[in-house]
Amino acid sequence: MGTHAFQAEVGRVLSLVINSLYSNKEIFLRELVSNASDALDKLRFRSLTEPALLEGEPELVIRLRVEPEARVLVIEDTGIGMTEAELVENLGTVAKSGSAAFIEKLEAGAKKDVSIIGQFGVGFYSAYLVADRVEVVSRAAGTDKAWKWTSTGRDTFEVEPAERAARGTELRLFLKEEHAEMLEPWRLRDLVRRYSDYVAYPIELETRDAEKPEEPPQRETINRGRALWQRPKNEITDEQYEELYKHLTHDWEPPVARTHFRVEGTQEFVGLFWVPKNPPFDLDDPRKQRGVRLFVKRVLVMEDCEAILPQWLRFVRGLVDSDDLPLNVSRELLQESTTLKTIKKQVTKRALDLLDEIAKDKAEDYKAVWASFGRILKEGLAVDPEWKERIATLTRWSSTYVPEGGSADDLVSLDDYIARMKEGQDAIYYVTGESREALSGSPHLEVLRARGFEVLLMTDAVDTWAAEGLGEHAGKKLVNAMRAEVKLPDAEDEKQKEAGKELEPLVAAAKKVLEGRVREVAVSSRLTESPACLVLAGAAMPAHIEKLLARSGKELPKGQRNLELNPTHPAVKALAALAAKDANDPKLADWVTLLYEQSLISEGSQLEDPNGFARRMTALLVQAVS
Ligand code: ADP
Repeated sequence: MGTHAFQAEVGRVLSLVINSLYSNKEIFLRELVSNASDALDKLRFRSLTEPALLEGEPELVIRLRVEPEARVLVIEDTGIGMTEAELVENLGTVAKSGSAAFIEKLEAGAKKDVSIIGQFGVGFYSAYLVADRVEVVSRAAGTDKAWKWTSTGRDTFEVEPAERAARGTELRLFLKEEHAEMLEPWRLRDLVRRYSDYVAYPIELETRDAEKPEEPPQRETINRGRALWQRPKNEITDEQYEELYKHLTHDWEPPVARTHFRVEGTQEFVGLFWVPKNPPFDLDDPRKQRGVRLFVKRVLVMEDCEAILPQWLRFVRGLVDSDDLPLNVSRELLQESTTLKTIKKQVTKRALDLLDEIAKDKAEDYKAVWASFGRILKEGLAVDPEWKERIATLTRWSSTYVPEGGSADDLVSLDDYIARMKEGQDAIYYVTGESREALSGSPHLEVLRARGFEVLLMTDAVDTWAAEGLGEHAGKKLVNAMRAEVKLPDAEDEKQKEAGKELEPLVAAAKKVLEGRVREVAVSSRLTESPACLVLAGAAMPAHIEKLLARSGKELPKGQRNLELNPTHPAVKALAALAAKDANDPKLADWVTLLYEQSLISEGSQLEDPNGFARRMTALLVQAVS
């Protein structure tokens, strides 16, 4: 009770809402009706197990009413209502989950546009777009005390006891003078049809004849009300779909594409799904799956239902309305449900169909989708063998191939790669590393490049994992060109073998020098320009992944790499001659160590002994210049 200060963030959010939605004021009604509809959903759902909450008044309705003399617009619902504590918490703070992230974005000066506002639960504050004072009178279902919350939207709000017979919430908006038109019935009808037509509860407009104020008010239902997704597709306009999308997701930008389908047979359900343009702020948290709702026979039973889509599709938004699940379904029950397994499979298939369609017909959009969500989708290659072939065709990669007139930033698909494969090439080659730039100079590419083979340059943290999970595509193996066991077709020709023989003493000496640091020293068939490189053997992970793992406290076994020497390189040849003469020459140890160290640097790893490296380099320089 009494006067409360708004949480500090509320002021910032309020001014942001008001500034960025300046020319979009009329959306306040959609936001408030949407809150009312959520409150009715909550009551309907809870009353399934606690019928007493309905208090013998089962009517679930939203009412709009005007008081022209006072310039007041009333929005009332018979929903769940709010207790005193809930009024303070819900209307005095920014939704807990998002507020930190929201303020962060705000302060980073990130795009201060409308698209981020809706993600954070600030719908209620949109009332201040048109009103300079708002009163909220509410009585929570099942309680007997009502409370009134009042504020001008500046610094503080009041909460005091109030009278309210009916369960639910009544918002009284004291409209600013310039928004008096919001009191006109035609204006309200128009706004509801435009923005809230799909709301599943009747929205009634109450009007009185000014001549006969003593007569009871007229009530007219102004929305069509049937769950939009239950109507035939050809009766739904693009605008209606889009409004529903915005209502469900709080995204302020239109989605890229949608799929709306009905599955019939033993399982009956309707699905409606969208691919959004913008990633939500908590996309990287795999436990969050926002924006997939589960309805059972038109009743919302679960928001954020993570069981409907696999993790790697967690950017897809939408809903399922099932006829077969029980109304009181719980998250635990869903895990077990065979009905849900069927639904999940169907929905996954349709979502992939939708992505295929975007990739095929809307190339530019697909680029944006891939940039936003590609790294999420790729997780599926590693974890979901059932779908990996379908995911694989959707993937796009950086490549050494640059089309004429194209740019190095262009991405390629695996199918395009295969179509371009050279005579005698039987695998899809890739390297993984921190950046495109670092990779394109990698010694591991030398012989592939010399043969004109295209190589995929994988730089996302998930890529190593994803590529290994995929294994092959369209019958072509994916081969990591950085691994020891890579053998190019007919690489081992006679010349190579001969050169290898000449290197034997050097290889033996190098093995001794590098003992414990590498697993093996070998003659390379993959180098044409560089004298040496490190390749991954056994359980070795690429350098950038090792770094990532080390940062999160996981140390990997050391010495899991092989050093490969280029038998045609003059430096290696000279070292081989030295080793043949005197395998114990101390210079040999230094120079072999230098080859090892430069290979470490080139793969992006840290030197084990930077001072030793500097000493060896200096000694070499002194020799060279003297
Ligand atoms: P959001 O709806 O995105 O959570 P809002 O600022 O619009 O954010 O509302 C904050 C909270 O206030 C809601 O989550 C809900 O708990 C509560 N609320 C708002 N309007 C109503 C209403 N008409 N009935 C019951 N609770 C409401």
